[in-house]
Amino acid sequence: MKYNFTAEQIADPQMGPATQAVRSCVHCGFCTATCPTYVLLGDERDSPRGRIVLMKDMLEKGGAPTDEQVYHIDRCLSCLNCKTACPSSVNYQRLVDQARAHIQEHYKRPLGERLLRWTIAKVMTRPALVRIGLLLTRIGAPVVKIIPGKLGAMARIGLSARPQGPEPTNFPKPTQTLKRIAIMPGCVQGALSPQIDAAVGRVLARRGIELVALEGAGCCGALPHHMGREHDSQVFAKRAITAYEQGRYDGVLITATGCSSQLKDYAQQFAGDPVWEPRARKFAAAAYDFAELCTPLTVTPPQPLRVAYHPACSLQNSLKLNGVGEAMLEAAGFIVTPFNESHLCCGSAGTYSILQPDLSSQLRARKLGNIAAAEADVLVSGNIGCLQHLAGGEGLTQPILHLAELLDWAEGGPRPANLELPAQPH
Ligand code: SF4
Ligand code: SF4
Repeated sequence: MKYNFTAEQIADPQMGPATQAVRSCVHCGFCTATCPTYVLLGDERDSPRGRIVLMKDMLEKGGAPTDEQVYHIDRCLSCLNCKTACPSSVNYQRLVDQARAHIQEHYKRPLGERLLRWTIAKVMTRPALVRIGLLLTRIGAPVVKIIPGKLGAMARIGLSARPQGPEPTNFPKPTQTLKRIAIMPGCVQGALSPQIDAAVGRVLARRGIELVALEGAGCCGALPHHMGREHDSQVFAKRAITAYEQGRYDGVLITATGCSSQLKDYAQQFAGDPVWEPRARKFAAAAYDFAELCTPLTVTPPQPLRVAYHPACSLQNSLKLNGVGEAMLEAAGFIVTPFNESHLCCGSAGTYSILQPDLSSQLRARKLGNIAAAEADVLVSGNIGCLQHLAGGEGLTQPILHLAELLDWAEGGPRPANLELPAQPH
């Protein structure tokens, strides 16, 4: 695509990859059919190709973006499904990340929107504040249910939370330790579903992996990064990197696929920084997703349930771990039931379910409709954002679990509290 970036922009370690993405796009449009927002809206400006033009114009010109540019770039999920169809290997992620950071720096949003984004960045990234928020939403549930708009979407996250037990700080020791992996606590997951990390600890211990809580680390920074708040995101990244450097581990794990893809991208966040880029690169090289550590284990589960497996976009399009979850479930004796459009985003997408509640709800309804048609006994995913978002949908017809919770039960661990077993085994 023709462009007018300056030599300085092209040489910039942060902006350069974005200009390269624009340059590689041949405007063929193969990506449009893969884009969830284009599928829903049919507007070229809500397609990858249309957004690339909007972002190019905005970044070339510099300064304050137009309302139209912000409106359509905001509606992008950052699901990266467009990358899967692109014959020119356009690195859309580099472009959209730069565009979001540019908007954050140069565009003045209405006061309410600024306050909401500030709250997401400052409150939702801190587990203690998330727990207070959860308590308040439960106390005020009748009111929370009818709060309209984005504030309501944020408050209702608390209503579909299903915390069981305390957040684990100690994890079981394997009979023979093959690897010692530091586990990051993350932000919302510990408050919403502490049982996930507990299950992960048991599952990995059976595979000779000992988990050790990474003291000093917190949120991975993905939530502020989704909103272009790069400074906030980098603060969390620096905390995690510093904490990891204090100990001796064989790697670092976070048990949500969206967060894993953030950890693995830390080097780009610090591109051009002589101190932090090499440290971030080393950290990113040591980062694992649960699906990479959890080798399939052949067992016979208490009941061979039919499982619908929802692969998060971060798992499919960033981590490139397609098919890994399904293989683990099949080895554990479950029947994986495919469903239509499993490649399309469910609408969770980091902060998207809060900031774009209408589009997000439409994508969720579509996803749950496809899952319902598969008539599975249980729905499984590996990302807290997707789990929480889908759990809040009206069309959910079965229990929903993290992959580790179901594997743990199959391998002799406790039955997840919300797992109702069908009367008739398959
Ligand atoms: S990242 Fe997802 S929503 Fe955004 S343009 Fe690509 S496919 Fe569409
Ligand atoms: S498929 Fe790739 S090259 Fe074609 S329009 Fe989309 S981003 Fe550009």
